[in-house]
Amino acid sequence: MFTHDCPSCGRRELIFNDQVTALENHLDGFLITFTCWCGATGTHLEERIVPAA
Ligand SMILES: [Zn+2]
Repeated sequence: MFTHDCPSCGRRELIFNDQVTALENHLDGFLITFTCWCGATGTHLEERIVPAA
């Protein structure tokens, strides 16, 4: 679950796991593709949490 500023509906929405349509492993984390409440498709980069050395 994460928040997303949707350019289509112009709102900050809470995106739940069941709205996620794709998950792609990325160099910097996970690239999440999801469907917003308004029906628009959006992407969100969930940054990998790097433990402080
Ligand atoms: Zn939206």
